[in-house]
Amino acid sequence: MKTARLQSDGVKGSIPPADFYRAELPAMPPPRGGGWRDGGLCCFHDDKTAGSFRVNLETGAFCCFSCGSKGADIIAFIQQRDGLSFPEALKKLADDWGVE
Ligand SMILES: [Zn+2]
Repeated sequence: MKTARLQSDGVKGSIPPADFYRAELPAMPPPRGGGWRDGGLCCFHDDKTAGSFRVNLETGAFCCFSCGSKGADIIAFIQQRDGLSFPEALKKLADDWGVE
């Protein structure tokens, strides 16, 4: 039986953060290169103006300078945005992205 730790590595390893954020953040400007990019409108507060939400397209980390939301990877993003537990977020990512 797989541990949650192995599953999280598998999910993270199978979903490139750049692809993930392109799909999840329609307001994100087209990314050029990796690293920290403008994520467009923040989905953790009622954001009217882009500019304070940043995503890291290499690690999947995200951070909002306006509301203070932040996390280390795409699993944390799904957990916080959708109000899911860690295993629930893993399952949603695996289902949405077709990860075994
Ligand atoms: Zn925010």
